Amino acid sequence: MNMSQDKPVAIITGGGTGIGAACSRILSRDGFRVGINYIDPVEEQSRQVLSELEDGFLLKADLSNPDEIETMIAEIREKARRVDVLVNGAGISINKDINSMTLDDFDLQRAIVRGSWYLTKRILRLFMLRKNSGRIINISSVVGHTGNSGQIPYTMEKAALDAFTKSLCKELAGRNILVNSVAPGFIDTPMTQNLPDEVKSRILGSIPLGRLGSPEEIADLVSFLACRASYISGTVIHVNGGLYGG
Ligand code: NAD
Repeated sequence: MNMSQDKPVAIITGGGTGIGAACSRILSRDGFRVGINYIDPVEEQSRQVLSELEDGFLLKADLSNPDEIETMIAEIREKARRVDVLVNGAGISINKDINSMTLDDFDLQRAIVRGSWYLTKRILRLFMLRKNSGRIINISSVVGHTGNSGQIPYTMEKAALDAFTKSLCKELAGRNILVNSVAPGFIDTPMTQNLPDEVKSRILGSIPLGRLGSPEEIADLVSFLACRASYISGTVIHVNGGLYGG
């Protein structure tokens, strides 16, 4: 058996950019083989992140498509055989007010949380094949708690992700699989870089620490939950520079 098959494995959706890329790097540093899930538009960045890791592999799959999730599960079985940590990090935010938002926008937004749920459901057997333990970490958002103008479907889906965390924790506790949400505030990634300047300055003015967070500041908590936490489950941990305390 080759050595890398003994390493713990972390699968990270959206693992090639922003917060996901920081999670890929830090969990690799922590000793995990990292499976980076990505979609076409970010293939180049995802390959770049992979090249920086000690040990990992790419998993191309659009989470809005269940067939692609099935293919990804088959690939994980082939490339890794086991899974110890799943980070549901993929996300999109559609920024429009309620009058401009269409049903198609809503469905596009909803497809990500549906895909995170379906991937989690399908990957569970790979947690359980080897041993009864594991960690599932969902990247939600402060705005799922505070609300945010111009982001109604996004805030609804992030609130749903936190509810998923709480319910799944109860279903899996007997198998020693711990499930938590990490809820970032405003973090310096492609998602916030694309916001209009006036929105960015309004956001900055509202953060007590007076700056955006870095992707690494989120990944540090993911690393703690993946590697060291043993009595935290079913909770939402906020990382937001004092913006909201939960
Ligand atoms: P990002 O745009 O770099 O990351 C999102 C990732 O999700 C990208 O890699 C993208 O390709 C991937 N993705 C989108 N749709 C997908 C699909 N259908 N299938 C597979 N992958 C898909 O931005 P980020 O800020 O790093 O976001 C990471 C997570 O953090 C997201 O869930 C986001 O909602 C959440 N978040 C970000 C902030 C912030 O301020 N940046 C705040 C709170 C929460």
